[in-house]
Amino acid sequence: MTSEEDFGQYLDSYIGDDQHIALLLDYDGTLAEVPDRPELSVIPPETKETLRRIANSGKVFVAIISGRSLDDLREKVGIDGIVYSGNLGLEIQLPDGTKLNQTISEEATANFHKMIEQLTKEVAYNGAWIQNKQIAFTLHYREMEPNLVPDLLVNAKRIIESYGYRTFASHNALEANPPIEWNKGRAAELILSSSFDKNWKSRKVIFAGDDTPDEDVMKAIKGFGKSFRITNGADVLTNADFQIRSVQSVLKMLKWIENKMCK
Ligand SMILES: [Mg+2]
Repeated sequence: MTSEEDFGQYLDSYIGDDQHIALLLDYDGTLAEVPDRPELSVIPPETKETLRRIANSGKVFVAIISGRSLDDLREKVGIDGIVYSGNLGLEIQLPDGTKLNQTISEEATANFHKMIEQLTKEVAYNGAWIQNKQIAFTLHYREMEPNLVPDLLVNAKRIIESYGYRTFASHNALEANPPIEWNKGRAAELILSSSFDKNWKSRKVIFAGDDTPDEDVMKAIKGFGKSFRITNGADVLTNADFQIRSVQSVLKMLKWIENKMCK
């Protein structure tokens, strides 16, 4: 890996003389450190202010796509004039307030509460707990004894799938989403295609994310965008064009973009 201090090596020739770009970002582990508990997350003030200036420049279209619920995400980031997408893309809110949410069946909605009840009774203990995100949830197990995790995963997946919900792995957690063929990559396509004209694939699009669900965005923009996977392990399998190390690297990228696009 060459020095990641200089984002020019990754992006300068890609952006070229374009006056407008789109910047898509994950939140936890990308803009802000992954906290011990989701509610404790704080976006670093410098990151927030840099992102706000970038978004307000009128030259960079900004969208944040997260596993958090839309309301939670918007509150954590706290910037106007950008796109927010929550629950791994199931919820999307454009800057003018328009929502592009996926429709969830009545059956899935009814099952949601029953499923949470059963999981609470049968698996959410010994350090495992459920983050209820209204239409989806995350089962966290980072506080659990590691030797208990395999059984937890088998039992949780069995219960979740019996209600027709889909599971995804993320950092020390199992995500459960309603039975809709959807992911962050589909959300990215919908955000870009509804915000730009039919030639949206000729836009310069930059994405950064740190986790497995972010790989769907990396796949979706492959060929016309440039993506970064945040990881401190050299061996991670990724669809990203580049690997960078940390939340601090993302801040460096934002500063580089501001300097390149917004002066
Ligand atoms: Mg993340």
